[in-house]
Amino acid sequence: NDTIDLDQLTGWLTRFRDLVTEKVAYLTELDSAIGDADHGSNMTRGMGAVLERIQASPVGTVDELFKGVGMTLVTSVGGASGPLYGTFFLRIGTTAGPVKALDASGLAAALRAGLDGVVARGKAEAGDKTMFDVLAPALDAFDAALIVSSDISSAARAAYSAARTGRDATEPLLARKGRASYLGERSIGHVDPGAASTSLLFQALAEILDE
Ligand code: ADP
Ligand code: MG
Ligand code: MG
Repeated sequence: NDTIDLDQLTGWLTRFRDLVTEKVAYLTELDSAIGDADHGSNMTRGMGAVLERIQASPVGTVDELFKGVGMTLVTSVGGASGPLYGTFFLRIGTTAGPVKALDASGLAAALRAGLDGVVARGKAEAGDKTMFDVLAPALDAFDAALIVSSDISSAARAAYSAARTGRDATEPLLARKGRASYLGERSIGHVDPGAASTSLLFQALAEILDE
């Protein structure tokens, strides 16, 4: 795959909705250990609303698609993850612009802008035990893979592999951002819920590009 088109990008979002729905109990369990047990329901409600919007009003360009996704998440999900995921997708949209498809470097730039948006909003740094600890290494792996080959699916597989490693690496960390940080030392020994859902985001991308 040298490009990813609107149907595939919609497929990515659909697959992400399906994965958070499949793993809702797992995400809830992670957030009950170090948060308020709503990350599973936040993600399924948010992505459910996203897919409803896409089905109700089809879009013609990548920026329209992701601006709609971002706005829906910001408005339908309370808590930290709504604005953070919302900003991630909004920035993807504004960076992609009014196009019908993205090539590998266009997708890399859009995802990177999404990460920058998450940082602008949440001020997370590496090792703070947040979704940043999955997003940043996944995008680094995505970029590194594109130096070797412009194949988006192999870059997505590399990103997903780095995402799983980043997710697992949050377990021994002490949380420094979000609700989990209120627990101090007691946040150690649990995988971060947002890191886990962000890993599903890359799983979804790798899977739809392999179809
Ligand atoms: P809430 O904590 O408001 O209940 P969620 O449970 O839906 O919201 O999401 C929690 C997740 O949000 C955390 O596991 C973490 O990954 C992410 N998060 C929280 N604060 C930040 C932040 N400042 N920067 C990046 N990610 C954050
Ligand atoms: Mg929560
Ligand atoms: Mg909450």
